[in-house]
Amino acid sequence: MAIKGTTQLLGVIGYPVKHSFSPLMHNAAIAHLQKSAPADYVYLPFPIPPRDLKDAIAGFKAIGLCGFNITIPHKQMIMPLLDEVSDVARAIGAVNTVWKETRENDKQIWCGTNTDAIGFLSPLKSPPGSPLSSAEKPFDQDWASTRAIILGNGGASRAVVAACHQLGCKRISVVGRNPEKLALFAESWANSPEIAARLKVMTWDELPVQLPKAGLVVNATPVGMHPDIEASPLSNKEIELLPKGAIAYDLIYTPRPTKFLQQAAAAGLIAIDGLEMLVQQGAAALEIWLGQPAPVEIMRQALLDYLATA
Ligand code: NAP
Repeated sequence: MAIKGTTQLLGVIGYPVKHSFSPLMHNAAIAHLQKSAPADYVYLPFPIPPRDLKDAIAGFKAIGLCGFNITIPHKQMIMPLLDEVSDVARAIGAVNTVWKETRENDKQIWCGTNTDAIGFLSPLKSPPGSPLSSAEKPFDQDWASTRAIILGNGGASRAVVAACHQLGCKRISVVGRNPEKLALFAESWANSPEIAARLKVMTWDELPVQLPKAGLVVNATPVGMHPDIEASPLSNKEIELLPKGAIAYDLIYTPRPTKFLQQAAAAGLIAIDGLEMLVQQGAAALEIWLGQPAPVEIMRQALLDYLATA
């Protein structure tokens, strides 16, 4: 991939940002697109401490950066620094993708959205093409009668709540270990009354009653993530309470599969890991920046190749 005087900048901001897979995935996509058409971009990691966020965003405008992704801890803090924020990002309460638009009198503004919900939904709506997902065909799930349980009440859980609402899930239950945080989580959806009406928050001890009614269980905690690969958010006994045909979805993609998904597969459930979500949220961002379809296969393969050697 040649970097020239004309090359435009994209990137990811976070702190730290060195663990991000986004530069790998996006630069593979850009290199592929360059083979058939001009795609004069490069995607860089920008580690930005929270105290420097405002200066960094002003600096990005000054140097003409085209757009960027946002990861922990800036996903919420970036919002007041943007000129426009999409409805979905407002509902989720976090932005993961920013792009520049030119308005009257050549005024340039920063616009933000959140592509995590699109990413999450992708393997539930179409064949994932991901070898470690056990789902080989689109689901014929009757979402309107599906109860979803989301384990964890952090940032990713918020995108999953919005996604489950888009699916039309009958009930969306969010499980947390801190009742005060759970209450704040529930209150934070007050401006999205349709979501609030379907949302229930609960502590982990309520799971044995709720699991037998669930059609979708999502792990949105870091439990089971490398290096803690023997950990699972649910016991075997709890997994076995889930009905046949239920979907176990782990947002984690290292390791593949997680302990949670191994337990789910052993219990005959449908298992989906977080790799496709990562790929598809990135593809949705790239499409916003470049205004053309993203080479999803190339992005997925770049991650798979990297994970195979990591
Ligand atoms: P986060 O904001 O830090 O939230 C983590 C949540 O997990 C919190 O509710 C936390 O509870 C809970 N938690 C942490 N350790 C726990 C434990 N031992 N037992 C029970 N609950 C625990 O993190 P996040 O950004 O939401 O990310 C969550 C997971 O999703 C991570 O593994 C991340 O890698 C993954 N993720 C994947 C993608 C993807 O594209 N595939 C995208 C985003 C995130 P407290 O609030 O009580 O601490």
